[in-house]
Amino acid sequence: MILDGMPGRVEKDYPLDLLNTWKIGGPAEIVYWPQTSADMSIVWQRAREAKIPVWLIGRGSNLLLPDEGLPGITLVTTSLRAIEWGEYKVQVEAGYTLAHLSQEAGERGWSGLEFARGIPGSVGGAVMMNAGAHGGEIAPHIISVTALWADGTVKKLERAELEFAYRFCSLRGKAWVVETQLAFSPGDREQILSQMKENLRNRVVNQPLEKPNAGSVFRNPPGDSAGRLIESAGWKGKSIGGAQVSDKHANFIVNTGNAKAKDVLALIDAISKDVQSKYGIKLQMEVAYFNEARIEGEQSLQND
Ligand SMILES: Cc1cc2nc3c(=O)[nH]c(=O)nc-3n(C[C@H](O)[C@H](O)[C@H](O)COP(=O)(O)OP(=O)(O)OC[C@H]3O[C@@H](n4cnc5c(N)ncnc54)[C@H](O)[C@@H]3O)c2cc1C
Repeated sequence: MILDGMPGRVEKDYPLDLLNTWKIGGPAEIVYWPQTSADMSIVWQRAREAKIPVWLIGRGSNLLLPDEGLPGITLVTTSLRAIEWGEYKVQVEAGYTLAHLSQEAGERGWSGLEFARGIPGSVGGAVMMNAGAHGGEIAPHIISVTALWADGTVKKLERAELEFAYRFCSLRGKAWVVETQLAFSPGDREQILSQMKENLRNRVVNQPLEKPNAGSVFRNPPGDSAGRLIESAGWKGKSIGGAQVSDKHANFIVNTGNAKAKDVLALIDAISKDVQSKYGIKLQMEVAYFNEARIEGEQSLQND
């Protein structure tokens, strides 16, 4: 079997709702927490040869998982947490929490990741999504990314070999982030920490953090804001099943207690159609959605 002899935690029929911030999803056939990037690579290679689907989850904070659950192996990166601090540089594995990294850098008086203090994802997820907020994003701080490719090789790429745009990284669908090296600049510790506090305060005021959610559901269309469009189309507070458009922020869908993925998808579909018909703008999803339809195609690194 694929996971024979692999170190680390393995669970069968594990509830996916425990692996994402929306708290949605049926059972995963097998969940594995690799302890090292080598474990991740071995499991990927073995599964590829056996034609078993493999799914990758970081902290599940921008992800919708299916009610039917996931077949094959779901890898969770949260045990990949090695970190090495250098001179205004850090080498950090994919499963490290971005918000912790940001806080720890701030405590040292290192500037760069102030924007990231309230983003609940992993470092790997943040690189893959080019996470950003408050006018900052992770891309400009990346020195290099070490990634696992679909053919099983692990390669280090310099920043110049990668492309980033708004919530986009050119590794998407091609490779998994194993670790990254990030650069900081010297800053004023008190100023950095107070900037972070301010960013967190803004989030408490403007985001429905008291209910399970997955951050922004849609990408902002060029020159506009998805939240503004959804709000002006009248969707704030509307719900389908247990999924509700937040009263606080229209680009957030919250789980009011028993939401299913199908409720969220129905709401996403209804909002998209309505915004398109009212404003002629086709909203694109920011959250990733794993569904079984994709495993029928050629096996690739599932992270779209
Ligand atoms: C309350 C809240 C606030 C948020 N605010 C922001 C914000 O201000 N700005 C922002 O950009 N985002 C925000 N997010 C969204 C989310 O935190 C980020 O997108 C984060 O970077 C996702 O990381 P993750 O580890 O949770 O990824 P997951 O949700 O686990 O995965 C998302 C996608 O990334 C892929 N992925 C995960 N890890 C890796 C890896 N190592 N290699 C390759 N692919 C990988 C997955 O396969 C999946 O396709 C917010 C979310 C919440 C819940």
